[in-house]
Amino acid sequence: MSGLGHLRALPSTDEVLRAPELVDLSRTVSHSQLIAWIRKATDDSRKRLLNGEVADREILFQQIVHRVNNLYRHDLGRSSRSVINCSGILLHTNLGRAPLAKTAIQRIIDAASYTNVEMNLETGLRNSRGERVTELLSLLTGAEAALVVNNCAAATMMVLQTLAAGREVIVSRSQLVEIGGGFRLPEVFEISGARLREVGTTNRTYAHDYERAISDQTAAIIRVHRSNFSQSGFVSEPSLADLIEIGKRHSIPVIDDVGSGCISALRSTEPVVAESISAGADLALFSGDKLFGGPQCGIIVGHQRWIAAMKKSPLMRALRVDKLILAALESTTEIHLSHTASEELPLLRSLHKSAESIRHDCETVLAALTTSATTSLHIESCCSEVGGGSLPGCELPSYCLTLTGPDPDDLSTQLRRMNPAVVARIHRNAVQLDLRTVLDSQLPQLIECLQRVI
Ligand SMILES: *Cc1c(COP(=O)(O)O)cnc(C)c1O
Repeated sequence: MSGLGHLRALPSTDEVLRAPELVDLSRTVSHSQLIAWIRKATDDSRKRLLNGEVADREILFQQIVHRVNNLYRHDLGRSSRSVINCSGILLHTNLGRAPLAKTAIQRIIDAASYTNVEMNLETGLRNSRGERVTELLSLLTGAEAALVVNNCAAATMMVLQTLAAGREVIVSRSQLVEIGGGFRLPEVFEISGARLREVGTTNRTYAHDYERAISDQTAAIIRVHRSNFSQSGFVSEPSLADLIEIGKRHSIPVIDDVGSGCISALRSTEPVVAESISAGADLALFSGDKLFGGPQCGIIVGHQRWIAAMKKSPLMRALRVDKLILAALESTTEIHLSHTASEELPLLRSLHKSAESIRHDCETVLAALTTSATTSLHIESCCSEVGGGSLPGCELPSYCLTLTGPDPDDLSTQLRRMNPAVVARIHRNAVQLDLRTVLDSQLPQLIECLQRVI
């Protein structure tokens, strides 16, 4: 009885609503959201009382108000906001992977209202969704046809289901990859209805392993790029050309999951989409928002015959992308076609930045700031990474601003609370801001945010 008696000390929702500490909050968030937080905070206090905690009315009131503020901050932190990426990770999955080109952003804005997503404005007649962008993608990659779906995982599923449902697809044991965020090849196979026919070993797979696995059950051979790890040592596997030769001899299509969508060769081992097509792959798949530098989508290029079959699949309606993505993708593809990608795509600009120019940016920011008594800033060399499962192990030499103060965790929390939020990394008990991933247009904003925190 005494525990329940305590419950009477809990303030009512209305009382908490009138708390002077919550007046500002009630002006910026909806009434229903505020009520939901108060109820949650009150429930929490009720549970503690029932667990035997003792608190008077005033303490309970302050506890609840305090918790409401924490819930607000927590939820604000999850609400979408613009970010200045100082993590040094170019394709940061938690930060939305590739930042879009200015023209792609403008196309999204233009398409956000009514737009001719399924109409040719010249004739006034209907055309199929994404018709233009898929033509551009064919032009860019040298493929007969193209198709756009929600992401590369969807592309894989679509391809496996269309080509191989109920039959086998041969894959090397060295390529049964897991990409972050739940993409595990064996699981994608399972939901597509295709059967996995594993060949070779983790480190070595030979052309004859594929050849021997071919039967009347075989629907396709798939090669999957090891996007986020590399193998070295006693390793071997046939080239794409070898697989294509085997495929041709047995009339079996070869699918190449190239992953990151590299359009022109980088100083690395990332496969180039057009090379895969010219080598004779029947289908190549890649993400739109990795090295391609566009919006989230999965792009399938290859033989008209297979693309036509996928277009007719009922899955297509479920996996198709919306008009905003198509608009941004069209613009990004045009940029690749016009050979201006390394200037216009922020991702490639960041990737190609020299360490010297990053150092120069660090000096510009440093010169614009005045540090306080408790914090200090200096320039250090560091390493950026591509991330997002591209170019594993390729470290890009860079420079960062290192901010030291009494509490680095607190400094980085304060930076994240800015608008735009500044996302840095903590390294050796200091806050490191790698400027490789900061877009040129964001430097003035970064200076402003840093000045406020310091
Ligand atoms: C990234 C990647 C995927 C998954 O792509 P999403 O667009 O994230 O779905 C699939 N395969 C490879 C080889 C990849 O690199």
